[in-house]
This record gives sequence, structure tokens and C-alpha cells, in this order.
Amino acid sequence: MKTRFGDRLMYIGGEFVASESGEWMESVNPATEEVHGRVPAGTVADVDRAVQAALKAQEAWAKVSVWERGEIIRKLADAIVARADEIVALEAADTGNTIASLGGDIHLAKGYLNFVAGLGIEIKGESVPATVENIHFTMREPYGVVGRIVPFNHPFLFAAAHLAAPLIAGNAVILKSPDQSPLSASLMAEICHGVLPPGLVNIVHGQGMVVGDAIVRHKKIHRIGFTGSVGTGMAIQRAAAEVAVKHLSLELGGKNPFIAFPDADPDAVAKAAVAGMNFSWSGQSCGSTSRLMLHESIYDDVVEKIVAAVSAINLGDPSDPASGMGPVNSAGHYRHVTSFIESSVQDGATLLTGGKRPAGAQFKKGYWIEPTVYGDVTMDMRVAREEVFGPVLSILKWRDTDDVIEMANCLDLGLTAAVWTNDLKTAMNTVRRMDAGLVWVNGTGRHYMGTGFSGWKNSGLGREECLEEVLSYTRSKSVHIIL
Ligand code: NAP
Repeated sequence: MKTRFGDRLMYIGGEFVASESGEWMESVNPATEEVHGRVPAGTVADVDRAVQAALKAQEAWAKVSVWERGEIIRKLADAIVARADEIVALEAADTGNTIASLGGDIHLAKGYLNFVAGLGIEIKGESVPATVENIHFTMREPYGVVGRIVPFNHPFLFAAAHLAAPLIAGNAVILKSPDQSPLSASLMAEICHGVLPPGLVNIVHGQGMVVGDAIVRHKKIHRIGFTGSVGTGMAIQRAAAEVAVKHLSLELGGKNPFIAFPDADPDAVAKAAVAGMNFSWSGQSCGSTSRLMLHESIYDDVVEKIVAAVSAINLGDPSDPASGMGPVNSAGHYRHVTSFIESSVQDGATLLTGGKRPAGAQFKKGYWIEPTVYGDVTMDMRVAREEVFGPVLSILKWRDTDDVIEMANCLDLGLTAAVWTNDLKTAMNTVRRMDAGLVWVNGTGRHYMGTGFSGWKNSGLGREECLEEVLSYTRSKSVHIIL
């Protein structure tokens, strides 16, 4: 069958190849349910083939200076920008993310690659005065071959930016694309092909339970960087521990609180709450502040403004620059998100806007859900306790500061949190009490490169988007020169 994007191969050892199994997986446009491309369904043998190629390439790469590695990573960034329009068009079709937002992912990918490219010289050890007569120091060395497994919400951004830290540190990479939206990783393979030595980056498509698991269990992969759900993160910890002691970083899910204090400006809170939900990504962002906790004195005012803003979001074809929100990513994810829509009102929440498939002929097919807001949510409801990872905002009311902090912290997740107040003391007291790896005061959504992103509790392990991420792709060696 001829499809819009055709068959996209895997990238192993500098060659574009099919799976040794000969099997393929279809990729579906979530806005239309049309099959628009295929990728090979990788196997354990394909992963091993990629690891063998990576081991060979890494030996040579480790001998390249950090300056030259940085130059090559900058070339990757330039090559991405040169194909930006093509990447954005393909990614909008394959994910349902809007073209209007996807330009931001190109900008972030370029920015992060360039940022990390300059950090090579920071991969340094320490000189330690352990004795007076001898020399004692540490040095940092790469792991060798690193596995990176990425989720469906920003597949291109992750396929690009997640190469940066392992590469600058001298590693080769095996990257696994998400099976719902794998096509843009193939574009990243083409970009790598023009810039990197063969085998340094290998991109393997396929199912998580097969290809992802094979990466996690491969004896020659000692370091795995994973971004995805808590359940998969825990499965990866278990699988890795069955074969070896491995170094993992896990960037996992969130159910992030946004606490607005009585002195907060209702207009500003409403605007930030809508922005913090990342509706232009159909709410499919791990950092989304999906639990808005409004003090009772501003509740009605803020709710009215949010409902007006969310009802005005322009749902439509993700490839139309005028669209403010597309569909959710896949049939399975549609079922997951709509299951919350079924349970929330039964649980006692008040539907304020959305909560159904939009009307109109263009929404008959595809995984469309209106941007949805629930009020009167309480922490015993499923919609308040579990990650929806969709366009569903829950609004809770509070009166007492200790109670709202307890509400914010009571889950096993701790990725982001937001606090809104003009009082510095209130802001800092609340920041100190938040169980989360990132807290915005009077802000939501934005990541600030270099400052780090990491989850607490079940939201993750390790720190990304900063120097710590680069160092985490190295291991330390202590050296004692006895004089
Ligand atoms: P997911 O189901 O956990 O999948 C993530 C990746 O893991 C996919 O490539 C998946 O492959 C693979 N995988 C599945 N089972 C595996 C296994 N047993 N071993 C190894 N790999 C396996 O997550 P998702 O639904 O794609 O993404 C949504 C989740 O990611 C949300 O929870 C979101 O909060 C989180 N997220 C976190 C961050 C962060 O920085 N903290 C950023 C973005 C997203 P298949 O696609 O083939 O199943």
C-alpha cells in the first residue's frame, strides 16, 4: 500500500536497514486515522546488531577531543534547522501536535544541542590532596554504549536533544523511537547520517516490550536514559536489575499542582493555568499543571476566566497554523483519556467545559477530545490522583494553607509545581514545602535550559537539561600516582 510518508527504515551502523524479521509496523495520523507510513518492527537481533556497530564506533569517538565533538554536535543542530519545515510537517501529521507549537521543538532541539556542545570542557575530574607526597585525582570516562528510550509526545525533540549529553561525553547511542509516532526519528537518522560517523548513533524502531526491553537487558549497555511513564520506568528498573547493575535515569510522569493564593491576580492565574496545561500539545506534557488549587476567595472569578479561555481554543487540523489544539496521539491514548471523562462526573466533579468529541464532519474520524475543565474536584477522585496526560484540567478549592500543601504533596508523584502569590514569604515557604523537582513562582510550563529538570518520588531519577545530565553519561575513575 502506498502511504504519504512511505516506508522509513531503521538506522544501524550507518546504514538504512529493515528489521531482520521482515516485519513492519504502521504509523497512523491521529487526526484522520489514516495509515500514513511504516517502520520496521525491530527485534532483539536488530538491537544486538546496533550495539555491535555502536561498540566499534564508540572506540574511535572516545579519542575525538571534546572540542571536535562539540563542533560535530553543533553541525547536527544546524542540519536540524535546515530541515525544520519538513520535520514540523511530518511531526504534526504523526503526533497530532500543532504546527504552531512544533516550531518551538525545533528551537529547543537546536538550543539544547548547542548548549551541550559547549559543555565538553566541563567533563572534568578533581585533584584531591589525599597525601602530601603522591598525586591523587579523578577522571571521567564514557560508559561506552548508551540506550535512550523516548515517549510519543515530543518524539523529534527527544530523538534529537537526547543524543547531546551521551555524545559529548564520548558515548555511542542506541535510540528507540515510540511506536505510536516513530516517523520523525527516521528523519533524525537521515540528519545523523550526514554528520556523524557510522554506528555512533543507531535508531531502532519497534515495540517497547521487544526493542526497549532488549536495550535495557543488553549486556553491553550499562547506562540507560528513559523518558516515559512511571509504570514503564519501574519495569525498566526491574528488568535491568535482572541482568546486571545498570545506571539508569528515569524522567517519568507527573500530576502537578498549581497553588494560587488569595492575593493572586485572577487574570494572571487564569492565563497561566491555561498555558500550564499545554493544550497545544493536547495536554500531553509531563510538566502540565493539571491540578489547579484555587483559594476559595478567587475560585469563582478564576474559574469563569479559565472556562472562557479554554472554550475558545481552536481545535483543528494540526498542520493548519491557525489550529490551537489537535487530537490526542493514538487510539490507545484516546481510550485512556476518555476513561477519565467517563469517571469524573460519576465521581462528583462538575464538568465546566468540553468533555466530549467535538462536533463537525472533520472530527468524525481521529482521536479528538475537546479541551476539558472540571471544577469541584477533590483529592479522592481518580481525575485528581492519576496522570491523564491529556487535555483535562482539574480545579480544586482550598481554604487552609496546610491543607492545600497536603493536597499538593499527597501523591507518589513530584515532577513540577507552581505557586502564585505576590508575597515573597508565602512564596518561599510554599516552595520549601513542595515535594517536586521543579517549582515555578508566578509562572508555569517553561523550562529554563541549564537549570535542570527532574522528578522527585515516582516522577523520576536523575537530572536532565543541565551539566548534571552530561556528567551522568560519564563514570568516575580515581587515579593515584605514587611518587
Ligand atoms: P511509555 O508507555 O512509558 O513509553 C515510553 C517509551 O518506552 C516508548 O518508546 C515505549 O515503547 C517504551 N517501552 C514500553 N515498554 C517498555 C519496556 N518494557 N522496556 C523498555 N521500553 C519500553 O510512555 P508514553 O505513553 O510513550 O509517554 C507518556 C509518559 O511519558 C507520561 O507518563 C509522561 O508524563 C511521561 N513523560 C515524562 C517526561 C519527563 O521529562 N519527565 C517527558 C515526556 C513524557 P512503545 O512506544 O513501543 O510502547
